[in-house]
Amino acid sequence: MYAEFKIFDLEENFELEENFKNRYVNPPMLFNFLLKNYNSLIKEVGKSEMGKPIYKVTIGKGNKNILIWTQMHGNETTGTLSCLDLLKFLENKNSIAGQILNEFTLDIIFMLNPDGAEIWTRRNIISIDINRDFLAASSVEMQVLKKIANEKKYDLAFNLHDQRTIFGLEGKKEPATLAFLSPSESIDRKITHTRKKSMGLIADIYKEMTKLIPNKISRFSDEFYPRSVGDNFQKLDIPTILFEGGHYPNDYYRKKTRKYFTLSLITALHYATIKKEWEAGYELYEKIPNNSPSFYDIIYRNVRLCKEKKETVDIAIQYTEKIIMGDEEISFVAKIEDIGDLSLMNGHEEIDAQGRCILIKDSKDKFAKIGIQADFNLDEWIILNGKKLEEFA
Ligand SMILES: [Zn+2]
Repeated sequence: MYAEFKIFDLEENFELEENFKNRYVNPPMLFNFLLKNYNSLIKEVGKSEMGKPIYKVTIGKGNKNILIWTQMHGNETTGTLSCLDLLKFLENKNSIAGQILNEFTLDIIFMLNPDGAEIWTRRNIISIDINRDFLAASSVEMQVLKKIANEKKYDLAFNLHDQRTIFGLEGKKEPATLAFLSPSESIDRKITHTRKKSMGLIADIYKEMTKLIPNKISRFSDEFYPRSVGDNFQKLDIPTILFEGGHYPNDYYRKKTRKYFTLSLITALHYATIKKEWEAGYELYEKIPNNSPSFYDIIYRNVRLCKEKKETVDIAIQYTEKIIMGDEEISFVAKIEDIGDLSLMNGHEEIDAQGRCILIKDSKDKFAKIGIQADFNLDEWIILNGKKLEEFA
């Protein structure tokens, strides 16, 4: 008999790892924390191009093995933070955690790309996208991952990522807070037995998590990426789930996303524990709405580009993220991303400018331009870093 799984109770009792509250994860801080708190479970499994350590934490005493890796893209920290929360959950020894640890041995590789993580870039320090490097393995980080993957027979793998705020649910005005994928093994996207297993587990995650965040979960494109890790792992008969943390309304530091991401990990591990056939119920996977690039961060509607024109356009603004050296949290820089008829697109924030004229400050240019920082006036309104100053509300 297995303990009853109640997603609302898990949410209520959710505890995050308090030592890491920011979205930015400083690599030395993470390393010191893991070495101090998980000393008996940790092993250095390699080094990055710049010589930073890459650590693996092993927990559980089951016969089946799960491989999890985080932050192969340096600016995608939700997986790392959620795995810290997951360790805390598993060490709490409640009945759900106990079942998981009896069934599985979990190998969690923390921050596969620490050089990129330090400077908040997707790619590694020599500009390689590690998730397109499976075949060539020209980055040492991919060599580390492949070496670990060859050390034992893995029954399941979780590939943890973040996606940009541009993604929403196809055909809906809803952001994709979580997206999942069972990667394809071939160009024809054939549904193989291995794919069915990861699809079946994603269906379980979807069923449980939509109770907490209805209309905020999507299915990532299953276009075949021949050089990617997930596609190749599934080809090697290791059912693999891609987890993507995305945007939740007004949650640019992804604190809510992190909670739901962690709960998704727990849900996946629970169902992998209790299900005899992981592929059971896989058909639901196909019914999950598609992940679609349908959002901008902010859209100003009904803007006139100059006094002489009476026609109006929409102006889309998108944040870029960066870490300023010495800071403990990332900053957001708003830039003009698109101009024109954006009626088919959504904004996480939409503001009706009611025909006000845009004036770019400190510019000789007559018109707004794509790519410039979003500091401008809309008649009497002042827009700074994309945001309308409130005294002009
Ligand atoms: Zn990624």
